[in-house]
Amino acid sequence: MLFFSTPREAHTTLSCPDCGSRLDIRRSCHEAYMYCPSCRKSFDLSPFVPHMDEAMENFLEQLYVDRV
Ligand SMILES: [Zn+2]
Repeated sequence: MLFFSTPREAHTTLSCPDCGSRLDIRRSCHEAYMYCPSCRKSFDLSPFVPHMDEAMENFLEQLYVDRV
């Protein structure tokens, strides 16, 4: 049930490198990535990690808890 209780995406305050819209953070089965709802593009997480906001941090925390 844990799988269903964990959010699969969250809204962050980070900006899309292409259009400047707010990015979402999402997860697939194995990894998390940033997603721009405007461009409909996904981005690698790593360049955004230094700019991580609270929403992103909480999301990733959940992700790692799931893996334990
Ligand atoms: Zn964009």
